[in-house]
Amino acid sequence: MAIERIFPSPNPGTAPYWKAARQHQLSLPKCQACGKFHSYPRSQCPFCSSDKLEWTNCSGAGTIFSYTEVFRAPSKAFAADLPYIVAIVELKEGPHLMTRLVTNDNASVRIGQPVTVAFDDMDEETSLPVFKASQT
Ligand SMILES: [Zn+2]
Repeated sequence: MAIERIFPSPNPGTAPYWKAARQHQLSLPKCQACGKFHSYPRSQCPFCSSDKLEWTNCSGAGTIFSYTEVFRAPSKAFAADLPYIVAIVELKEGPHLMTRLVTNDNASVRIGQPVTVAFDDMDEETSLPVFKASQT
């Protein structure tokens, strides 16, 4: 029996994120008053409280802020991927995202390492943003 993957459940506050991801763009709310991006999505800017927010594509570039290597799957859906890296990526635009780091060399992962967004096409409707080491 195949193990079902766990899919995101978009809601009105996160649907733009998932719609952009399906188009292989990383999009986050950007405050039109102070110019800062933020994540997770909120109805007001966490820096200046403005409600003038606009979903804006990010560069997809960032660095590894922190990471861990997972050796015990939280569910059977992840068992085939062990061991894998879960990272917090600091985007060039500022926000931190918790994400999967796709690599075939877990031992080479380092804090501060440049990474770039990539997309895992889970099915015909859903693409999951992940990150991989930047090509230098
Ligand atoms: Zn703001």
